[in-house]
This record gives sequence, structure tokens and C-alpha cells, in this order.
Amino acid sequence: MSETVNAVQEPVQSKSASYTAKAFAASAPTSPLAAASIQRRNPAPNDVQIQILFCGVCHSDLHQAKNEWVDFMPTVYPCVPGHEIVGRVAKVGSAVTKFKEGDTVAVGCMVNSCGVCASCKEGLQQHCDNAATVFTYNSEDKILGGVTYGGYSESIVVDEKFVLHVPDGLNPAGTAPLLCAGITTYSPLRHWKVGKGQKVGIVGLGGLGHMGLKFAHAFGAHTVLFTTSAHKIDDAKRLGADEVVISKNPEEMLKHERSFDFILNTVSAPHDVNVYINLLKRDGTMTFVGAPPKPVPLGVFGLIAGRRSVAGSSIGGIPETQEMLDFCGKHGITSDIELIPIQKINEAYERLLKSDVKYRFVIDMKSLNK
Ligand SMILES: [Zn+2]
Ligand SMILES: [Zn+2]
Repeated sequence: MSETVNAVQEPVQSKSASYTAKAFAASAPTSPLAAASIQRRNPAPNDVQIQILFCGVCHSDLHQAKNEWVDFMPTVYPCVPGHEIVGRVAKVGSAVTKFKEGDTVAVGCMVNSCGVCASCKEGLQQHCDNAATVFTYNSEDKILGGVTYGGYSESIVVDEKFVLHVPDGLNPAGTAPLLCAGITTYSPLRHWKVGKGQKVGIVGLGGLGHMGLKFAHAFGAHTVLFTTSAHKIDDAKRLGADEVVISKNPEEMLKHERSFDFILNTVSAPHDVNVYINLLKRDGTMTFVGAPPKPVPLGVFGLIAGRRSVAGSSIGGIPETQEMLDFCGKHGITSDIELIPIQKINEAYERLLKSDVKYRFVIDMKSLNK
């Protein structure tokens, strides 16, 4: 995301050491995604070549394809989005030790980082101190040149350090969204030690919120969903909410004043965040994982009274992502999805803008060959 990441370096591998893969790409901010051919590097000794089976559709994909983050992460076209990838190992490099051909594996939001800074050494590659995190798409590709291409493709080649094992028994399509929506909610719930005996709020029931509900419930917390839509009550309860609060009803909100240990705010649309701060107990924290586009007014009195905190959290490191997948394997947790062929991706983006999906679109990548 920084200049270091975007600085153009000489590719260390020539184009001749690459192969052509089918993909779906945006060629301009206003053009729909369409079939394209991209280059993938031939697997180096530490690389895993993955045949992509499923790829989740994250709201970030849409922002990036349409160049809506022009100020901090301008899009380089063609843009191949997708960072919720599940696939099968097609080939491994000679030095790969953790994977073999045929394994079911996953790749999330990152495909490399500096590996030597304090954050990387702690397994928090998303916070690389040298700002050298290589994101799965639209990051500088230091090997082939240009930018990285994401999971809307038939295959991807990734260093084994950034490849994850998918536990047996998990539905691979429902597993894909765990790689972004899953880890984005799992990581803060773990970091702030959510568990039994606690009351935890999840704000918003979308791709992130529905995973937050499942995890908070699985960790044993008394879980409360905040939503503006009364029609989501039944679904929220099915997904793990012990209670549902309609956030636009001030009386209902007042009943929960000073009662929450932790609130996970997944809403990226502009909204009043102060009403939630007043619901936190002394020393309670509200953590944002959805980012409203503009700065949010914050009533500081609400923080001073009760020594409350507001915080943010970004995805999770590779070790924690594996821990999350293993937890999901043990507890049978996957995302609620709507499977689509790649040819429906533009329609899916339209529906995503209206929150018309329960709760994540996942692309069945074999449709690329239609
Ligand atoms: Zn994402
Ligand atoms: Zn680093």
C-alpha cells in the first residue's frame, strides 16, 4: 500500500519463465469484468502451483476493480480480483515441504512479505514493518513485474509460506470466504480474548457480520447482533445470535447501556458510532473491521467515562489464518454462500451494492472453461 510496495523494480524472472492462465479481469474502472489471459510464473523451488476451485467475492474486489481506492491503492489494469481462494495443489517446487500434489489448500489476502521484520517474524505479515506485504492482487509483482493477479483465475502460483491447509471435511466452496471475511472477524475476537461469560456485540449482518456471529457464538460468548433491518432477526438467531437489537430503536439500545465487554463493528457505511460506545462496560473495546470512507465523529466523553477504547483490526497473519481454518475444521464452521459461475460476476457486483446476498458470493471456477 505504500510507496515501497508500489516502487517498480526490475523483474527477476523473465516472461519466458511463465505460462498463460485463463482469468476474468476488469480492463478499466467502468468496464465490466470479462474473460482475459494472464501470465503466471512457473513454480520456483519454494512455490506451490494451485488449480483454483472456488473464489469468494469480497467487497474489496469491487472497490479495487472500479478504482474506488484511488487515493491509497490505485488500480493497475487489467485487474484480476479475488483473495478468498480454495484450490488443489497441481504442482510443487523442488524445495516445498508442507504440501504435495492433490492437497486441498487455500490462499487469502497476502502472497508474500519481507519476512525479516519484527511483525513478519511474529507472523503478522499484514502489518509488515517494511510495508512489503504483497497482496494477492494489485500489489507489485516482484517476480514477473507488473501487479499481482488474484483468484478469479484457473490457477495461481504462491510461495508455500503463504499457502494454507484446508482441513478435511470442510466444504471447499463454503471455506473460501473464511480467507478474508473469516479471518477478519476471527482475529479481533481472539486478540481481545472473547469467550465464555462475556457479552459481545456484532454490528451489521453481511459477509463479515455473519462470520463474526458464528465465531463469537463458537467461542462461548453471549452474542448480540445489531442491525437496522428487522427482517434479519431470524437469520441472525440461526447463525448464532442470542439476542438481536434493532439499532435504530433508541429504547432498545438504552436497555443495553454499559453491558458489553466487546463490540465488533463490521459496517463500512457511514453511521453513528457513539451509540455503540455507550453500550460498552468499563474498559470495554469497540473494534472496527469495516472502514467508513470518511472520518467518523467520535464523542470523546464516551471514551473517558468508563475508560473505553476504540480500535481497528486488519485480516490476520498466516499462522492465525491456519489456526482459524483448523478451528473451523474442528467445529464445522463455513460461510453461508451463493455459488455463481464467473459469467455472473458483474451481476453479483450489482447485487453486492444492494447487500442482496446471503452472505457471500463464491465463484465456481470450473465455469471459466464454459
Ligand atoms: Zn476481502
Ligand atoms: Zn516484514
